[in-house]
Amino acid sequence: MKRAIYPGSFDPFTLGHLDILQRVVGIFDEITVAVLHNPNKKPLFTVAERIDLIKEATEHMGHVVVDSFEGLVVDYAKIKGATTLVRGLREVSDFENELKMAHMNRHLDSDVGTVFIPTSPEYSFVSSSLVKEVASHGGRVTAFVPSGVEQALYQKYQKV
Ligand code: ADP
Repeated sequence: MKRAIYPGSFDPFTLGHLDILQRVVGIFDEITVAVLHNPNKKPLFTVAERIDLIKEATEHMGHVVVDSFEGLVVDYAKIKGATTLVRGLREVSDFENELKMAHMNRHLDSDVGTVFIPTSPEYSFVSSSLVKEVASHGGRVTAFVPSGVEQALYQKYQKV
């Protein structure tokens, strides 16, 4: 069984994230969207909220599992029996950081490889932080996030 992990903060999950997922889902038997619990960061959405929103946005897709993890992603991958990490690329600066991370993960566990998927052009400028910035000022983010995430954002910022 070919298993992959798509790790990230997903604070919140965007249509850019969904686009990457849709393009890799057919390649693997099971793909786990793994929300990183990072105690050093102060996210807008709790891990549980992020998991619920991702589940809602991916419920129409088969072979997708949503979970969370803490610590090293290679350790988490081992527990899940996965040997591939999936990461999305928007621009060259993403690639520079992602390449370093992929090399480090490979050093930590030589069984784990990383595949990079380039984003669709329409999502190349979309990031969770930009979406939050716009939504916090009451701007529409309908084109960039699943509808459940849009509602959740407006509720968080009380712009409904
Ligand atoms: P992290 O904090 O790990 O970068 P993110 O939630 O920001 O977590 O991103 C998770 C993954 O999704 C990363 O590989 C990132 O490059 C990718 N990603 C983020 N936004 C987009 C987008 N608009 N299109 C494609 N990939 C994206």
